[in-house]
Amino acid sequence: MGIAETVKSSRLPGFYKLGLAERVAAVGDWAGLDDEERAILAGRGLQPGQADLMIENVVGTYALPLGIAANFLVNGRDYLIPMAVEEPSVLAAISHAAKLIRAGGGFQAESTDPVMIGQMQVLDVPDLEAAQRAVMAQRAELMALADSYSDSIVRYGGGARDIEARPFADTPVGPMLVVHLLFDTRDAMGANTINTAVEAIAPRVAELTGGRVVLRILSNLADRRTTTARGTVPADALTQPDLPGSAVARLIAEANAFALVDPYRAATHNKGIMNGIDALCIATGNDWRAIEAGAHSYAAHHSRNPGSYSALTDWHVDDNGDLYGEITLPLAVGTVGGATKVHPTARVAMKILGVQSARELAEVMASVGLAQNLAAIRALATHGIQRGHMRLHARQIALAAGAAEGQVQAIADQLVAEGNIRVERARELITN
Ligand code: NAD
Repeated sequence: MGIAETVKSSRLPGFYKLGLAERVAAVGDWAGLDDEERAILAGRGLQPGQADLMIENVVGTYALPLGIAANFLVNGRDYLIPMAVEEPSVLAAISHAAKLIRAGGGFQAESTDPVMIGQMQVLDVPDLEAAQRAVMAQRAELMALADSYSDSIVRYGGGARDIEARPFADTPVGPMLVVHLLFDTRDAMGANTINTAVEAIAPRVAELTGGRVVLRILSNLADRRTTTARGTVPADALTQPDLPGSAVARLIAEANAFALVDPYRAATHNKGIMNGIDALCIATGNDWRAIEAGAHSYAAHHSRNPGSYSALTDWHVDDNGDLYGEITLPLAVGTVGGATKVHPTARVAMKILGVQSARELAEVMASVGLAQNLAAIRALATHGIQRGHMRLHARQIALAAGAAEGQVQAIADQLVAEGNIRVERARELITN
C-alpha cells in the first residue's frame, strides 16, 4: 500500500524521503489527479501561449518550486497544502509545526462574510456634513444601484451590504469625503466586481454630495473580511532533548511578546507568517500583493499594540501549561476569478487543496500562517534559525556554485559535514 492509500489523512510519514516522481504519484493518488494533472505537477505547467493571453508583453514563463506541506488538520478536515516558494526550510518547518498543532486537536478557524470595501474619493464638496448626511440618507438607493451592476454575484448570494461616509476636513487638497461601498463578493477576491460597482455608483454620489468624485477603487485593507485561526500545542509535544516542553512554550510566548511591542521585530515576525501565506496564494493563483498589503496594513491599523505596527499573532501559555496561538488578518482570496481557474498549476493546486469556498480557502490560509509563525519562533527561541536552515540551504549554495544536478546532494552533504556552508567552499569541492 502506498503512503497515500492508508487513510485520507494529511499525515504522510516519509513523504520527504520519496523521489520526485514518487511524491507526484502519492499526491496524485491522495487527491485523485488524472494523468494530465499529474503531468502538470511534474513540470508541464503554464505554457508560453497561455501566458501570452494572461498579461502583456510576454516573453516566456517563470517557474518556482511547488511543494506539499503535510499534517494539516483544520476544523476537523485533513488538507495537503500546495506551496510555491523559492526559499529552503519553509516546507519542512511548516509541516513540523502543523504536526505539533495536530497533537492539540488541529486548527480551529473561522471567517467573516467575504465583504470587501470599495472607496470613492469626493473633492470640492461645498458642505462636508451635509454631503455625508445626503449619502447616508440614500444608502438603500446606492446599494440597489451597486447590485444592479453585479447581477451574477448577487445571484450567488453576494451584493451590497452597507454604505459609509468618512469626512476628512483637512487634507493637502482641502476637505475630502470618502464614501465606502461594502460589498459581499462571495467566492471571488472581488477586485473587479468592487471596482465596477464603485465606478457605477460614483456619478450618483457626485450628485448627492455636490462634489467631484475622483478615485474609485477597492481598499486592500479588507478589514471587514477577516479570518482567525487558533491552535494549541500540548507542552509535552514541544519537548526537546535539552529542554522540557513547558520551557519551550514559555520561550515561544516570550518571542511573540517581542513582536507585539517592537515594530522592528514585528516586521520580521509577520514576514515569516507571509512565507506560508504567500506560498499558498501563489500556488492557488491568488493575488499575493493584495494579501501582503492587507496583512501589513491590518498589523498597523488594527494593531495588537495600539499606536504601533505589531505582530499578527498572539502566543501564550494557557491555564493548562500548554501553548495557545491565534492569528487574525484580512484574507481577500478567491476560488473563482483572477488566475485561479486560468493557470494550469493553480487549478491542480486547488484540486489538491479541495476547498469548496473562498472562506474555506482563507481558513486554511490563516492556519498556514499560524503554523509557519510557530515554526519560525520555536526555532528562533530555542536553537536559533541557522542550524536547520543552513543544512537545507546547502543545496542552493551548491547549485549557486555551479554544481551539476547529480553532484548537488553530495556537495551539500560535504558542506554540512564540514560546517562550512559557503559558495567558495562549494566551488572548491566542484573543482576537486
Ligand atoms: P473576476 O473579475 O474574475 O470576477 C469573478 C467572477 O466570477 C464574477 O464575474 C462572478 O460572476 C464569477 N463567479 C462565479 N462563481 C462565483 C461565486 N461563487 N462567487 C463569486 N463570484 C463568482 O475576479 P475578481 O475576484 O473580481 O478580481 C480579481 C482580480 O483583480 C485579480 O486578478 C487581482 O489581481 C485583480 N485586481 C486587484 C486589485 C487590487 O488588489 N488592488 C485591483 C485591480 C485588480
